[in-house]
Amino acid sequence: MLVMKFGGSSVGSAERIRNVCSIVRSRLAESPVVVVSALQGITDSLIDAAKKAAKGNGYEKVFQKIVDTHQAALQELGLSRELVEPLLKELQKKMEIIVKLRQTNVELMDEVQSFGERMSARIVAGELSRQGVPSKAFDAFEIGMVTNPNYGEAEPLPDTEEKINESLKKIKVVPVITGFIGKDSAGHITTLGRGGSDYTAAIIGASVGAKAIEIWTDVNGVMTTDPKIVPEAKTIETLSFEEASELAYFGAKVLHPKTILPAVQKNIPVRVLNSFEPQDRGTTITKRGELTRKVVKAIACKKHVIIISVSSTRMLAAHGFLSRLFAVFEEYRKSVDMLATSEVSVSLTVDDMDDVDNIEKDLKSIAEIEVKKNKSIVCVVGDGMKSTPGIGARVFSVMGKHKINVEMISQGASEINISFVVDDKDGENAVKALHKEFFG
Ligand code: ADP
Ligand code: ASP
Ligand code: MG
Repeated sequence: MLVMKFGGSSVGSAERIRNVCSIVRSRLAESPVVVVSALQGITDSLIDAAKKAAKGNGYEKVFQKIVDTHQAALQELGLSRELVEPLLKELQKKMEIIVKLRQTNVELMDEVQSFGERMSARIVAGELSRQGVPSKAFDAFEIGMVTNPNYGEAEPLPDTEEKINESLKKIKVVPVITGFIGKDSAGHITTLGRGGSDYTAAIIGASVGAKAIEIWTDVNGVMTTDPKIVPEAKTIETLSFEEASELAYFGAKVLHPKTILPAVQKNIPVRVLNSFEPQDRGTTITKRGELTRKVVKAIACKKHVIIISVSSTRMLAAHGFLSRLFAVFEEYRKSVDMLATSEVSVSLTVDDMDDVDNIEKDLKSIAEIEVKKNKSIVCVVGDGMKSTPGIGARVFSVMGKHKINVEMISQGASEINISFVVDDKDGENAVKALHKEFFG
């Protein structure tokens, strides 16, 4: 089997959906399992509508845009409105509930967001069938995607893969499965985190022992950096699982950070391909990658992070202090991206978030805390850095030359990345300067 995931940009309009279906048709011999995201921009609109509904009014315009986008795509494809009509009605009811409640909550937000993928799967399956490929849409939870109830960042339960494998064995048409969503054991809809359709594809790929997991997007693979920052960025032909994980983790949006894990566990190659240029070879991510002459393979940047510095001369070395410190992050379910320690302080970074004030308050009860906002992590990645001295010196002399102030520095134990923190306003310049240094 071959898992083919198409992101929002690949299913942005009727024309794009037709294109997706012709790509799937070209792979029929490999028994494709299709995973789709919501139509481009729809998840943002759903969140926007729910937030407006919680304020009491004003959601109607955004809601109408959601309705119009789907109906226009259906009409242009010559498909029946009935494919999404029941879902749109259900969504309207949810909005009315939120208006009455005058608030949303994480559970309702996940349910609202799920409508995007549920509608796009039905449209894509409809179009595939119309093109003569027997196909059916499935909500991921119908085929076994059961998660924990960690709304907004849910994780599949241990027996999910087995359930998905069992379900897919019985399906004799091309399944088009919703990315991004699942259900918890109590039957409530959950989401796997923004950009999570990649993760769905990887989980499904691991479940069925797929030959490959294809992530179809709007660029020619994983590139030396985000082409929106550096238009001359080049496609990287091969990457190791480790390199791809580091890049995704530190902001290369082209892959959701959790995508690689299920692929690593089953050693399934992940290919990142461009649905606008299906003939392009894109990037192949495998266990070993490939050593190239390039020591640095890519540069990633993650914006809007916060540095939390904890200092306490007496307590830092004390037994149990660090575990108390991390217990606070655990309680708020916040993952720490970067960590740097000295004898008297620990600095760490987390995503900007609503509950940072509460975390700060809790941490203040155990140590002195300083919080710095509007920061970016810049990360330089490459397998060859392990065996090549002097990369750090080059990275930081470039920063010095551009008068970019560097705050925290960390090198992962795997020695395949160097990451550091700069002000948000300097993040893109740091990426541009480093790209020039390492890629000319
Ligand atoms: P999709 O809708 O297909 O999931 P995304 O917007 O999530 O697409 O991811 C693709 C985008 O990721 C690209 O358009 C690009 O701007 C961005 N991106 C960031 N870093 C990289 C990188 N290193 N290589 C390629 N694309 C990147
Ligand atoms: N539609 C979801 C989002 O926009 C999931 C995805 O696109 O992968 O985050
Ligand atoms: Mg994405």
